[in-house]
Amino acid sequence: MRLTGCPMRCVWCDSEYTFTGGEKISFEDIFSKLEEFGCKLVEVTGGEPLAQKNVFPFITGLCNRGYEVLIETGGYVSTDEVDRRASIILDVKCPGSGEAERNHWPNLSLLRSDKDEVKFVIADMNDWEFAQRTIAEYDLVNRAKAVLISPVHGVSNLREIAEAVSRSGLKVRLNLQLHKYIWGADTRGV
Ligand code: SF4
Repeated sequence: MRLTGCPMRCVWCDSEYTFTGGEKISFEDIFSKLEEFGCKLVEVTGGEPLAQKNVFPFITGLCNRGYEVLIETGGYVSTDEVDRRASIILDVKCPGSGEAERNHWPNLSLLRSDKDEVKFVIADMNDWEFAQRTIAEYDLVNRAKAVLISPVHGVSNLREIAEAVSRSGLKVRLNLQLHKYIWGADTRGV
C-alpha cells in the first residue's frame, strides 16, 4: 500500500509521483480490497506512510485482522506510535540524500533484533563511510534483524561500493532494487 505525501525531498527519490495525487479511501474499503488479494502480508509504504496520522490506527486494524505488516519508513517520523506487532524497515538517510539532518535518531533505539530492519541508501563512498560509522555507533548489526545497504539505482561505481561492502566483513546485506533491473527504472506499480 502506498500512501500519498512525504515531508522529505531526497535528491535520488524514485517515487516522487507519490507526493501528490492518490485517492481518499476508507479503512473498510481498503480492508475489503486487501482481502481480494488473498495475501496475508501487507507492506505499507509511500511517500512517507507515517506522515499521515490515521496510519497508526490503520496499522493496528491490519494487525488485528491477522496480517503480517511491514512498514517502510524514511526515518523522519517517530516510529514510537506504530503497533508493536508490525515490523519496521527504517531508512537512515545518508548525506548524499540531502536529508541526513532530518533523521529522527531515537528511532534507532526502538529497533528490535527479531523483526525490524534498517536500510542505508548509498549514493557514493562518502555515504558508505557514514553508514559504517552509524552501524558501529548504534550497534545496528545486533540491534536490527537485518542491515540493508542499498546503492542508488544507476550509480556509476556500483562495483566499488559492492567490493567495499564485501571487504568490510560487516554482517550487512547488499540490497539492489531488483524490480528496476527486471522491469526498468521507470516502471511504476512493481
Ligand atoms: S523519504 Fe522516501 S518518498 Fe520521501 S523523498 Fe525520500 S525517498 Fe522519496
